[in-house]
Amino acid sequence: MKLVIVGTGYVGLISGLCFAEFGFETVCVDKDEKRIATLEKGECPFFEPGLADLLTKHIKNTKLLSVSTSLTNAMTNASVVFITVDTPSKRLEDDADLTAVYKVAEEIANNIKNYCVVVTKSTVPVGTTREVNKIIASKVDQSIFDTVSNPEFLREGSAIDDFMRPDRVVIGVDSKKAEKIMRELYRPLYLLETPIVATTIESSEIIKYASNSFLATKVAFINQVADLCESAGGNVQDVANAMGLDKRIGSKFLHAGPGFGGSCFPKDVKAFAITAKKLNVDFSIIDSVDTSNEQRPYKIVNKILKHFDNNLKDKTIAILGLSFKPNTDDVRNSTSISIADLLNKKGAIVKCFDPQAMQNAKKLLPKIIYCDSVYNACQDVHAIVIATEWNEFRALDFDNLKKQMKSAIIFDLRNIYNKEELLNLQFEYYGIGK
Ligand code: NAD
Repeated sequence: MKLVIVGTGYVGLISGLCFAEFGFETVCVDKDEKRIATLEKGECPFFEPGLADLLTKHIKNTKLLSVSTSLTNAMTNASVVFITVDTPSKRLEDDADLTAVYKVAEEIANNIKNYCVVVTKSTVPVGTTREVNKIIASKVDQSIFDTVSNPEFLREGSAIDDFMRPDRVVIGVDSKKAEKIMRELYRPLYLLETPIVATTIESSEIIKYASNSFLATKVAFINQVADLCESAGGNVQDVANAMGLDKRIGSKFLHAGPGFGGSCFPKDVKAFAITAKKLNVDFSIIDSVDTSNEQRPYKIVNKILKHFDNNLKDKTIAILGLSFKPNTDDVRNSTSISIADLLNKKGAIVKCFDPQAMQNAKKLLPKIIYCDSVYNACQDVHAIVIATEWNEFRALDFDNLKKQMKSAIIFDLRNIYNKEELLNLQFEYYGIGK
């Protein structure tokens, strides 16, 4: 069975490589010529743990994965075509921008010769896969294709492991023939006892948004509990730990911090809320999750401002971590970037270090100072802000740091340090919710 994946971003490339790992001949297509040239050389277009080895294995050795800018060539004899292009928020609205998805659907329609299954793996609002079907059916007979929704749940930073060992695979399908093909594709996971949830196309599309929005809700909830702890004298880590021990609640996504960011949660929460609005459904819970998360970076910056008596002129601040989470170079909607930008706009000189994301950050924030190590970033600063919890930042040499800082102040936005220990080292310490 030959597979085609359109879009070689975090989802498309990882899916393509993992399907190659299952033994399928896979062609990854992208319109970005530079990216395809990078991949042809066996080089990684972005940072993701394990990606380099899998690329070498399947592009150079097994040759099960090939890459191309031509969908026409790639689609010859293909049985399944995945759409894994980006679905960002629209420029001036919160709705998902489906331009790329519909463009690919048209291109697929122009190239279908034999029966194939067209799969939307991009995160798309309910109704999109039916629209993709309509676009293709306007050009080719419905008897030679079916459309399926198969949302992806991998997380950047552990994407390969997540794809190879998912909690579930969701397949939204209304054709028995297409369902059989999809089950065949995921057979290696079924053999590992991964639940395969076959459902309607609509439910499948909603499952993805409902899952992301639920996780985002947990984060927004614990962040507001953190605010309460700060006002009432509690410790949000103790509260979250005890809450998480209740199996009905679970401990995941109960870490208070600077708010959720990244290329998925913020845009998916907004798009889910817009879907509800269009359908005249009350989604006040999701609306307030979005609003409270948008306010989060401002709250953090206000806390920093308050410490410095609302005056950051002549103050230098080190930001450690720019990616939206550790183990990725992705800075899309990163709260660290928002905080660095706000501090800079309030007059602070901002120095920063990130193990992987500085190149991407420079495109968004050209005005801040990029340093080649934690210790260079912290030289002569008035405060350190730990914005992303990379392992590199978990065992800092505070005795040394204190000697090179102008004042020993730390804003630990990920609660990775113990307040008492930092106080003993003569630091002024601000965590979240404690
Ligand atoms: P991305 O921005 O990293 O990659 C998208 C790729 O699609 C780019 O390389 C782009 O050049 C290519 N592309 C766009 N239009 C094209 C076209 N017409 N023809 C060929 N290629 C085209 O995106 P991503 O982060 O991989 O996300 C893709 C989708 O998967 C989104 O809907 C996202 O919400 C969803 N998703 C992402 C993640 C994640 O962690 N990144 C996880 C689950 C689901």
